Amino acid sequence: HHSTVSTANGSRVLIAGPLGFIGRFITGASLASGRPTFLLVRSSSGCPSKSKAVKYFQDRAAIILFGMINDKEFVEKTLKENKIDVVISAVGGKEILDQLPLVEAINAVGTVKRFLPSEFGHDVDRADPVEPGLTMYNHKRLVRRLIEKYDVPYTYICCNSIASWPYHNNKHPSEVIPPLDQFEIYGDGSVKAYFIAGTDIGKFTMKTVDDIRTLNKSVHFRPSCNFYNMNELASLWERKIGRTLPRVTVTEENLIAAAAENRIPQSVVASFTHDIFIRGCQSNFSVDGSADLEVCKLYPDEPFRTLDECFEDFLVKAKLEGPSGTRNNENTNTNPVGDSLPVSNLGL
Ligand code: NDP
Repeated sequence: HHSTVSTANGSRVLIAGPLGFIGRFITGASLASGRPTFLLVRSSSGCPSKSKAVKYFQDRAAIILFGMINDKEFVEKTLKENKIDVVISAVGGKEILDQLPLVEAINAVGTVKRFLPSEFGHDVDRADPVEPGLTMYNHKRLVRRLIEKYDVPYTYICCNSIASWPYHNNKHPSEVIPPLDQFEIYGDGSVKAYFIAGTDIGKFTMKTVDDIRTLNKSVHFRPSCNFYNMNELASLWERKIGRTLPRVTVTEENLIAAAAENRIPQSVVASFTHDIFIRGCQSNFSVDGSADLEVCKLYPDEPFRTLDECFEDFLVKAKLEGPSGTRNNENTNTNPVGDSLPVSNLGL
C-alpha cells in the first residue's frame, strides 16, 4: 500500500508531466535522491518511448499514478491518499493553465509543503519577450499569482537555457547536435546566456524542494563556468570538431519576423531567442538574495556539468551519426519525447 512507503528518505514527491522533456530529468533526480516518488502520468498512451520510460522509472521504485492535473477532485484525493509533501509540475508550454486547478487542489488539501510550478526557464515576472512567447509568460504569471494569493508554499526554478546549441526554431535544442555546416549567430553574438545540463536542472531542482532557504523564493541558475555568448559557443564547438565553420548573422529583425510568423512552437522559441541573445534577459538584473537566490551560492560544493563536457557528449553523438550529420533543425515533431531521448541519457 502506498501509504506504507517509508518517509525516512525525506519528502514524498509527486511529479506531473514526469515523461516530458524536463520532467524526465526531474524524475531521474528525485529517484536518485531516494525520495518516495509518485509519477502522475496523463494516460497509458501507446508511445513506445513513454512506456519504456515508465518501465525504466518503475524499476527504480517510482510509483505510477494515472490522471490529469486539471482534475481537481482527483488531485485532492491523490495528494491525501499518498500523503504528498512536494508537488513538482513539468507540464508543457501549451498546458501551463492546466495548473490552475492543481493549485486549487493543493490549496484545498493544505498539507503540501512545497509546490514547484512548471517554470524551468526565465524569470517570467522580469523577462518581457515579444509574442507568442509573451502569452506563455502571461500564463506562467497567472499561475504564480494564484499560488501567491493562496499562500501556497512555492519555489520558482529559473534555470535559464538547456545546455546545447540554441537553435531558434527547436523547443528541445539539446536533442540536436550543434551545427556541422555553418553557425547562425544572433545579432553581434556578444550577449551572454547560462547553459545548464538537463541532469543538473533535475539535480539542483531536487536540492531546493525541502530546503527552508528556498521557501517562497525564485532560484536562479547562474554557474559562471557556463556563461557563454554565441561567438564563444561557436568557438567551443569548433575546438571540439577540429575545424572552423562559416558564421552567418541572424539579425534582430530576422528573429522578430520568425516570432511574428506565429508558428507554434517555433515562433515561441524565436521570441525567447530574441529576448536572450538580443536583449540579454538572463543577466540584465541582479540576484540580490532576498526574493531571489542563486543556486551556486546555495550549494557551493555541488559541481555543475560544464558546457565543455556537454559539447563533448555532442561530439560523440556526431561521430556515431556519421559525416552526413543527421541534424534535424526543421524538426516540427510535436511529440518531444520521441525515441531521440533514450532514458539512458538521464545519467542515473
Ligand atoms: P513536454 O511537452 O515535453 O512535457 C509535458 C508533459 O506534461 C507531458 O508528458 C504531458 O503528458 C504532461 N501533461 C500535460 N498536460 C497535463 C495534464 N493536464 N495533466 C497531467 N500531465 C500533463 O514539456 P517540456 O519539458 O517541454 O516543458 C516543461 C517546462 O519546461 C515548461 O514550463 C517549459 O516552458 C520549460 N522548458 C524549458 C526549457 C529550457 O531550456 N529552459 C526547455 C524546454 C522546456 P503527455 O505525455 O500525455 O502529453
